[in-house]
Amino acid sequence: MRAVVFEAYGRVADVREVRDPVPSEHGVVVRVEATGLCRSDWHGWMGHDPDITLPHVPGHELAGVVEAVGPGVANWRPGDQVTVPFVCACGRCAACAAGDQQVCERQTQPGFTHWGSFAEYVALEHADVNLVAVPEELSFATAAGLGCRFATAFRAVVAQGRLAPGEWVAVHGCGGVGLSAVMIAAACGARVVAVDVSPQALELARKFGAAECVDAAGLTGAGGGAAGAVRELTGGGAHLSLDALGSPATCASSVQSLRRRGRHVQVGLLPSAAGDPVVPMGRVIGEELEILGSHGMPAHAYGPMLDMVRSGALRPDLLVTSVIPLDAAPAALAAVGTAPGAGVTIIEPARG
Ligand SMILES: [Zn+2]
Ligand SMILES: [Zn+2]
Repeated sequence: MRAVVFEAYGRVADVREVRDPVPSEHGVVVRVEATGLCRSDWHGWMGHDPDITLPHVPGHELAGVVEAVGPGVANWRPGDQVTVPFVCACGRCAACAAGDQQVCERQTQPGFTHWGSFAEYVALEHADVNLVAVPEELSFATAAGLGCRFATAFRAVVAQGRLAPGEWVAVHGCGGVGLSAVMIAAACGARVVAVDVSPQALELARKFGAAECVDAAGLTGAGGGAAGAVRELTGGGAHLSLDALGSPATCASSVQSLRRRGRHVQVGLLPSAAGDPVVPMGRVIGEELEILGSHGMPAHAYGPMLDMVRSGALRPDLLVTSVIPLDAAPAALAAVGTAPGAGVTIIEPARG
């Protein structure tokens, strides 16, 4: 098969023929119809992810068709149209037994712990635990983004964030996951304040339902920065605030955006190179703030999200801004570090 392979961190990958994957006993091989380009892929390519060994094939946001199944797979057969959460669970550890497959103790992640979906085929483990059927009315390009940024945003807002209609939500960072969160929070009846340094990203946030936008580029610490602007717009602070970018600055700003008893959800990954963020724990105690993490969403929890997509209440299709062939993926991957990050790029391996 053809795949995007890199042999060294930070050096542009190439597209070449490699051996086809075969399914493990409880796994499947999926023919990749569409796969999203994500900031985590860029972190992996830069060498920020300790799970990766070289040479490596990135890609973890995928949708496609089951090509082959292992002998231990009960529920899936060749021809099924599927997607997966980026965390593939083992189905047998204590976390999985509790229904928390998103934090499985023995998780695998395509594109990190093994070769991913920037390829014509990808192997996925424990298919009965992890595969999700793609509804007929969804395109593969739309379905590809569901497993990482969209599901992550959905769980962050609805499950971890416990959003109630009428509440104020601040979303710090309006890339793929941030814009997803804006759309989901607005669809759930919240009033959303979008925060970013890019006017283009804020324009998209407004289109996807943000009631207010804060351009953080010109704001300095003296006036409270972006957090001060959020507190003013929301009459004292957001009920729920998300760091959807993942940086010490946006993490702190998100916590400082909250009103008393507010909830911060950390969604953006914080690569260790940037150091641990400083969280104002004095305020966490004095104002009874909640600090929560969110890590994907288990396959069994996709139902309510897919229902909202089917009804048109959520439109992940609108987040897709470009579709490119496999040959263009290495350059696009390298560009993630310098691109402002508005919108979603989908790679279609079968596209010539
Ligand atoms: Zn991703
Ligand atoms: Zn597990």
